Amino acid sequence: MAEHYDVLVVGAGPAGLAAARAVASHGARVGLIDAQPRAGGQVWRYDVRQPAPRAARQAIANLRGVELLAQHSVVAAEASALRVETPQGSKLLSFGSLVLATGARELLLPFPGWTLPGVTGAGGLQALAKQGWPVEGRRVVVAGSGPLLLAAADTLRKHGAHVLGMYEQASPASVASFARQLLAWPARAWQAAGLRARLAGVPYLPGSFVRNAHGVDTVQRVDIDTPRGVRTVECDLLAVGYGLVPNTELAQLLGCALDDAGKHPRVQADALLRTSVPQVFAAGEACGIGGQAVARIEGAMAGHMATGHSQAAQALLPRRDRERRFGALLARHFALDPRLHKLADDLSTICRCEDVRMGDLAGFTDARAAKLATRCGMGACQGRICGTALAELGHFPRSGARPPIFPARLATLAGLATLSSDDA
Ligand SMILES: Cc1cc2nc3c(=O)[nH]c(=O)nc-3n(C[C@H](O)[C@H](O)[C@H](O)COP(=O)(O)OP(=O)(O)OC[C@H]3O[C@@H](n4cnc5c(N)ncnc54)[C@H](O)[C@@H]3O)c2cc1C
Repeated sequence: MAEHYDVLVVGAGPAGLAAARAVASHGARVGLIDAQPRAGGQVWRYDVRQPAPRAARQAIANLRGVELLAQHSVVAAEASALRVETPQGSKLLSFGSLVLATGARELLLPFPGWTLPGVTGAGGLQALAKQGWPVEGRRVVVAGSGPLLLAAADTLRKHGAHVLGMYEQASPASVASFARQLLAWPARAWQAAGLRARLAGVPYLPGSFVRNAHGVDTVQRVDIDTPRGVRTVECDLLAVGYGLVPNTELAQLLGCALDDAGKHPRVQADALLRTSVPQVFAAGEACGIGGQAVARIEGAMAGHMATGHSQAAQALLPRRDRERRFGALLARHFALDPRLHKLADDLSTICRCEDVRMGDLAGFTDARAAKLATRCGMGACQGRICGTALAELGHFPRSGARPPIFPARLATLAGLATLSSDDA
C-alpha cells in the first residue's frame, strides 16, 4: 500500500528545498526525498568542520510543514508512484504532483592513470573532505574545468590540504572574457573575487590539463600540459573534474522528454517548468547547469506550479531567465578542448566498476551491444561515470535509463512492476 503525498519532491538540494517550502506554503502535504542522510544537496553538503553558509542554514531550518525523507533513494517509478530504497527496506510513495530536483554530477574523463587510488573528481574530493576524509597536509593538484575547481580548492584548503595549483582547461582568453562578463552578475562577481582572495598564492593556470597520472599503489605525480609545455608535479592527490552534467535518469524512467541538443541531455521543461508528463515538474541543474541561484528560483517556481499557483511562479520568471543566462555564459566559456577526448589509450580503464578497458569497446557502435558483451556500465554506478564519459568522447549516443537507477535489494527488485526480464 502506497503512502500518499499531494506533492513529492525528489532532491533536497537548493532546488528541492525551495520547491518543498513553496508547496508547504500552500498547505499541501509534501514529502522531500533525498538519498543523502541530510538535506543540502551538492553545494550545501554537510561539512564536519565548517559551518554551513547562511543561505543553507535558512533553507534547511525553514522546512515547517515539509516531511523530509532522508536516506530514501528513488530506484524506480510507476504510474504516479515512486519506489524508494531506505536503510529499513523499500517503500512505495504515491503523489498527486512530482517535482524533479535531482541535480547534477561531475563529468570525469579517462586518461592514463585516472583510476589510480588518490585520483578523484574535483567535487568528489571536496565532498570527501566535507564528510571528514583526512586531507590535512596532503599535496593536492586540482584540475579540470569550471568554477567548481575554485570552490573545491577553497574547501580543501579549509580542511588543511596543501593545494599545489589549479589547472583549468579553458584557454586564458576564454577565462579572461568570462571574468569580464561576470560583472553583469555583481553577486557572483563578488563571490568569485572572495574565492580568488582566499586562494591567493595558489597558482591558477588556464589552458592546462592533466595528461597522465603516475604512481604504484597511489598517485605520486602528474604530467600537466600547459601553454608553456608539459609540467610534472609531485602530489599525494589529484582532484580532476570537467564540469557537471544533469541527472536525468529518474525523468527518463517517468517518460519525460529530454533536451538532447548537446552531448549530455537535460530534462525538457517549459518556461513554467512543466515537463512533457502531466503533473511532473523539473527544477535546478536537472534542467541544465546554472548554479545554485537558478536552482533556488526554479525550485520555488516548480513548487508553486505543483500546487496550481501559476501566478506566483510567473512572478519569478524574469529572475529565473536572468540566472539561466549565467548558465549559458558558463557553457560558452568552459567548453571542453577536443584534445581532452584523445587522452585515453586502449589500455585505459573506462568502466571502473566492471574493469573494462577502452580497447575492449572497439567495434561496438551502440552502448547496449557494448554493455551486453563487455559489462561496461553494469556496475554499481550504472554507467553514470563511464556512460557519461563515452557520450562526451563521442563513442556512443546516450542509452536509456532502466530500473533500478540506484543499487537496490533483491527483495525490492522482485517487487518492481517495471522490471522486465531484459533488465535483470
Ligand atoms: C560534486 C559537486 C560539488 C559541487 N560543489 C559546489 C560548490 O562548492 N559550490 C557551488 O556553487 N556549486 C557546487 N556544485 C554545483 C551544484 O550542483 C549546484 O550549484 C546546486 O547544488 C544545484 O542544486 P540542485 O538543487 O539543482 O541540485 P543538487 O544540489 O545536486 O541536489 C540534488 C539532490 O538530489 C538527490 N537525488 C538525485 N537523484 C535522486 C534519487 N533518485 N533519489 C533520491 N535522491 C536523489 C541528490 O542526493 C542530491 O542531494 C557542485 C556540484 C557537484 C556535482
